[in-house]
Amino acid sequence: MTMDELFRPHNLELVLNMAAFVLVVITLIIHYSEEDYYGKQRRIFGMLIFYVLFVNIVGGLHNLWIASDWAKALISYRFNCFMAVLEKAGMYLIAIVSMGYLLTLFRIELDRWWKAVIVFVPSTCSIILSFSAMFTRDVFYFDAKGDMHFTTPASGLINISAALYLVLAAYIIFRYYKTVSSEKAIVLIAYYIMMAVGVPLKILFCSYAPFEFCTSLALLLCVYTFQNPSEFIERMSGTGTRNALNFAVYTDLLQKKRFTVFGINIDRLPEILGSESVEASSNLLSQFASYLRRIYPDASLFYPEDGMFMMFLEDINPDDEVIEGLAEQIRRRFKDPWKLKGEDIRFTESPFAIGFPDEVGDMDKYREVRDEMKKMLIRQSREVLRVSDLNLKYAEHDKKIDSIVRRAVENGLLEVYYQPIYSPLTGKFDTCEALVRLRDHQFGFISPAIFIPIAERNGTVLGIDRFVLSSVCEMLAATDVLDLGIKYVEVNLSVVDCIQTNLADSVLSTLKKFRIGTDKINFEITETWEKEITSVVDDNVKKLTDAGIAFSMDDFGSGYSNVTRIATVPVNLFKLDKSIVQAAFESEVSYMVMINMIKIIKSLGKEIVAEGVETGEQAKQLIRLGCDHIQGFFYARPMPEAQFIEFLKEHNFS
Ligand code: C2E
Ligand code: CA
Ligand code: CA
Repeated sequence: MTMDELFRPHNLELVLNMAAFVLVVITLIIHYSEEDYYGKQRRIFGMLIFYVLFVNIVGGLHNLWIASDWAKALISYRFNCFMAVLEKAGMYLIAIVSMGYLLTLFRIELDRWWKAVIVFVPSTCSIILSFSAMFTRDVFYFDAKGDMHFTTPASGLINISAALYLVLAAYIIFRYYKTVSSEKAIVLIAYYIMMAVGVPLKILFCSYAPFEFCTSLALLLCVYTFQNPSEFIERMSGTGTRNALNFAVYTDLLQKKRFTVFGINIDRLPEILGSESVEASSNLLSQFASYLRRIYPDASLFYPEDGMFMMFLEDINPDDEVIEGLAEQIRRRFKDPWKLKGEDIRFTESPFAIGFPDEVGDMDKYREVRDEMKKMLIRQSREVLRVSDLNLKYAEHDKKIDSIVRRAVENGLLEVYYQPIYSPLTGKFDTCEALVRLRDHQFGFISPAIFIPIAERNGTVLGIDRFVLSSVCEMLAATDVLDLGIKYVEVNLSVVDCIQTNLADSVLSTLKKFRIGTDKINFEITETWEKEITSVVDDNVKKLTDAGIAFSMDDFGSGYSNVTRIATVPVNLFKLDKSIVQAAFESEVSYMVMINMIKIIKSLGKEIVAEGVETGEQAKQLIRLGCDHIQGFFYARPMPEAQFIEFLKEHNFS
């Protein structure tokens, strides 16, 4: 074939046909080699490739017939006509399916009959018209060369339907292109332009081949963007990525759909995955994923954050029973172990639910809520965390407090107060609790009940607790409190301290620096820590216990108490939470609850501190019930060091 021959219309068409064929086959191979994730979108895309391939093949045969004599010898005239008809009909199928693909890309449903009519009727008419060419010459006719032509009214109709599609597609793209990445938006627009120029090209060349070539190219672009799983599939868990979730939320919000995102945060998971091989991690994540898929097959599942799975539940409100039911089921499953490299491993999960569009109506709010939830979830709760539990107005407030705390740590504005604790056995104050105090130049006194939780969330608590421990040691070394009857000082240790690998070393080196014996410090930890018995916490407690430091369980009874576990917790002192103590003197039932708690602790041979004792009557009752230590405003408030020493002098030696 010479260059001259090559550029003869039908030969050029054949070349384009072949090029398009190669592109479609490549697209097909890529498409089928990727794992199935997109569901409906993937099926429609597969259909699209199939039709394009089909049109390409029949169009190719038709062009071959026209261009070569040997093809004419092999293929009958009627068969050629049939190929031409199939090519045209296939063209309109491509238009319908492209539209369907565009709709699924943006999760748009044809929820009204007229929308379906707009999408399906024009192309269906065109397809019927194409086939009518087999029976009548009123719509299409074949010229002497075997080429197919429209008669005037039919061609007008078909061009109008093509134009309708282009308008509709332009509208959808214009409305939704912001929901996708810029790379995808470009592909979408390129796809559109290729489709749009297909029509004038067809009129110009009297051929579909350039259009087919454009379509094939567009599909290849799609397979690398919209159908590209790495952007939307998280490889390790086989679920959706954060991008995929954001996209789903964004498009559904745009369409004013009602849905709930239900999630679970799996405690310790990021740390564990970080130290395991890809294979082991992926196996563990798949166990979670397949369990979650099984309990609610209708939901799409995502793994958008380290340690966090989220389910996308369409048509569900956050307060529907479904949510509580799911949480309960998951709670039960998490009581049993999972498998990591063949061994049992247990995790604690905390569930949360976000309702759209009532609770969260736009992407900015969604991001804010998600970040706040992440912070709250660290504090372990078994209740489903709701948007209403977050006080987003306080996010600002939190930031301000945070900067005040940081400033206080840097500028030495923190101070340690001591609250004496009474011992009924000796009638003296033989222990005390160290409590941090913050006085800001501008904002004045800020309660630790407010700033400690904030400091725990961003780690500043580490600096605070280090400061408190040094101050306590310094006080023990520099004053004569030990001679004044104090046996040890209780120091609060945050959960955040407990998960630091260097905790034991840092504590022991501080004690050594001030030459303080390990029996002079008792660390108070809260119940929350036992739920995250990470090996780090265990190691820390063990190292410190071995070194001679005792631990007590603070705020006992305030949270979720697992009675059977109490026996195994390595502490010798339980601090009965002030809420329990105070409630006990307000209702009969609460009194019984407290009595039973005291009995349980006593039966395990552990000591009890009653906190928040505010009246003489309360003190009397608690002593009678066998509490070993009494702490509260009735005896003394937390006070500065100098005042504390005066207090001991006055009360322990009178
Ligand atoms: P906590 O560990 O339960 O400390 C006891 C709290 O009860 C103290 O509040 C104390 O002032 C208060 N209290 C003592 N007796 C009574 C009473 O008779 N009635 C009432 N209503 N309250 C009483 P404070 O000092 O405001 O501390 C609040 C919380 O902040 C502490 O609760 C503890 O969780 C945390 N915190 C305080 N200092 C530190 C610290 O140095 N490190 C860490 N990590 N947390 C600290
Ligand atoms: Ca405490
Ligand atoms: Ca307490």
